[in-house]
Amino acid sequence: MTVPRLLAATTLAASLVLVPVSADAAVGYRPGSAGAGDPYFPKMGNGGYDVGHYGIRLEYAPAAKHLTGSVTITATALQNLSRFNLDLRGLTVQSVRVDGKAAKWKRSGFQELTVIPAKGLPLGKKFTVAIRYSGRPGKIADEPLGSSGWITTSDGAVALNQPFGAATWFPVNDTPKDKATYTFAITVPKKLTALANGEFVSRKVKGAKAVHRWRMRQPMSSELSMVAIGDYEVLRTRSGGLQSVTAFDSSLATSKKQLKNYDKKTRAVLKWQSKLFGPYPFTSTGGIVDELNVGYSLETQGRPVHDWNTPGQNPPDDLVVHELAHQWFGDSVTPAKWRDIWLNEGFATYTEWMWLERNGGRTAEQSFLTAHSAGAGADVWKGVLGNPGRDHIFDNLVYQRGAMTVHALRKELGDDVFFRLLRAWLGSYRGKTVSTKQFHAFAEKFSGKQLDGLFKKWVYTAGRPEL
Ligand SMILES: [Zn+2]
Repeated sequence: MTVPRLLAATTLAASLVLVPVSADAAVGYRPGSAGAGDPYFPKMGNGGYDVGHYGIRLEYAPAAKHLTGSVTITATALQNLSRFNLDLRGLTVQSVRVDGKAAKWKRSGFQELTVIPAKGLPLGKKFTVAIRYSGRPGKIADEPLGSSGWITTSDGAVALNQPFGAATWFPVNDTPKDKATYTFAITVPKKLTALANGEFVSRKVKGAKAVHRWRMRQPMSSELSMVAIGDYEVLRTRSGGLQSVTAFDSSLATSKKQLKNYDKKTRAVLKWQSKLFGPYPFTSTGGIVDELNVGYSLETQGRPVHDWNTPGQNPPDDLVVHELAHQWFGDSVTPAKWRDIWLNEGFATYTEWMWLERNGGRTAEQSFLTAHSAGAGADVWKGVLGNPGRDHIFDNLVYQRGAMTVHALRKELGDDVFFRLLRAWLGSYRGKTVSTKQFHAFAEKFSGKQLDGLFKKWVYTAGRPEL
């Protein structure tokens, strides 16, 4: 989130000479790029600016499945910008304003919304772009990555955005690289509840509707943003300075005690993880449990979502532990590129192994040996952990081999160095984005050990490593 003023100004001087003369080019203004440079998802995200904040106002009518949105984005130009792109899939744009003035826009491809301000935006300028839009948002059914985006439920909808659902319900710079703070104001029929990331701010009834306000004050990648609308049983608690919001679809909650148990579990897991990983990186927690038929839980920032369909029962511990571990690995410290997703999933899966051991189950070593005993032809050995390929970011390769790699590193370094390394890594990159290369270099510098062999064997080479 820093603006490279000096560097970019030098680039600009050069482009003054090279660029042919036109209204924009004469003063060195050029369009921001239409992608953020991720090789797996080239159209996701955009270039030329950095978002600082999303102010998201939504009104949702569940019966009509209709969404009306008004989003104000505060951003900083990273170059002299003649125009720039946002990502938005479907929906109809009604108006776009830049710094309060009407701007032109055009739509192209499956998710490019190009904004053309009346006047170019100079490098370093902080500006706002306000977009009004509406329509029936849809989900993305991607094979093999599964369903994401605006998922409708029997009584509302839940937005799950990993890896690319965010653009189905708001205009966004949809790359994990561009973290921002968020506020949400969500209007729904007053018998329903609207939830989002972060802290609950207020609920105000207006006639037959109610406006629910939430805010996420720590930087968040768009893939981790979340909205949930429905008939929820909600338990809000505050302890140790941490707000916790537990929400179960009313058809899944058979008693208040059930929500209390979930809240207790969340707090117990976070207490244990804080000892291992350092201070919890956010100011609120909790969980949302609803029947979504997507077949996964997701580490939405500050408040995971679980797809669940058993009334009276809570999601199992391993799911709760996994998604809460992601609050450190993935949410606070986030891979800038999708190929590095093992930095999330390897550690979250390994945390499940540690939880099992802590509670008298299999030791982490036993989990490791069991995973490693998969036959040479097993899926887990196919592909390269540090670059699994677009269609394989949610494969066993990433989760199981990822966890095995974490265990191999732990054994190489010893417990004392390993756990201090985790806390140092998470502390140094809190709220930032990272790569495998950075982790490799950080681990070597921190431990004073040469780890090229270990990373080559586990992270950069396919096939079953010999023990
Ligand atoms: Zn995960």
